[in-house]
Amino acid sequence: MGTQLVAAGRFHGRTVNAGLPVRPRPIGSGWHVWRTADGRSAIVAEGVVAVIRAVERDESPQETGGILFGRGFRDWAGEYVLVTHAERPHRGEVLGTVSTVAITAEGAAAMGRRAQQAQPVADVVGWYHTHPSYAAYFSDVDRAEQRRWPSPLAIGLVMSGRDDAEPRYSVFVGPESAATVRPPAGPAPAAELEVMDLDEFLDLPDRVGAPEPDPPPGLLPRVARRRRLAFALTLMTLVLVELAVIVVMALPSGTSEPVARERPSGGAGPFQGALTAPQGPGFTARQGWFSP
Ligand SMILES: [Zn+2]
Repeated sequence: MGTQLVAAGRFHGRTVNAGLPVRPRPIGSGWHVWRTADGRSAIVAEGVVAVIRAVERDESPQETGGILFGRGFRDWAGEYVLVTHAERPHRGEVLGTVSTVAITAEGAAAMGRRAQQAQPVADVVGWYHTHPSYAAYFSDVDRAEQRRWPSPLAIGLVMSGRDDAEPRYSVFVGPESAATVRPPAGPAPAAELEVMDLDEFLDLPDRVGAPEPDPPPGLLPRVARRRRLAFALTLMTLVLVELAVIVVMALPSGTSEPVARERPSGGAGPFQGALTAPQGPGFTARQGWFSP
């Protein structure tokens, strides 16, 4: 139930603040969605829940715990963190009793190193622990541990071992241990499935925390420039395809064989003109195409 404090600050190192990458959240039964009242979401892979349940069974009646891995993103509905991996503790990395657990500093670092090998693109996103004999709630000691995770998207997951526990596990978000609820099952509301224009999305105010500074100069123009570039590339591709078609159609006239089709006596459209260009690839054929 309690989690002893091992040392101040769970991880050490240089903190780099960067905007969350934009990515639409996954939808489907393989993901458990938990949402805070202010719109932060924790989206936990079903496999992660299964691993934590197994770890709980293995160590029961002692409490145990470990580190969670994944990645934070944002989309039209706000900030969210995908939890894609739960690292199992090795012996000695976690000190558990029937009512307390402590993830040692060495244990947390070792789990981080193992996950870096197994899940090289995953970040540390939080921690989990088990309550074999208690409900899935955060004790004061658990909240104290959660305060050592400064990210507003830091995840604290607690798994109960009790069959009558409802819910079987709970998720808390951010250093303040914000409670979460699972949105009702079923298809997402139509509004949530809307496709949003990127420009429109970039103009949205952040829904969580302090307002973000203005986008770096040139960000929006760059988007516009990308669009112009895409248009130019499409146009260029069309022109190249057209030239290729013209050259292919003009090829037979490059040989000594007579052209099979003849120009109709009158009313030939531009396309027929191209087909019946009598000689020479390239310019003549092209002239035929445009002015038969
Ligand atoms: Zn606890």
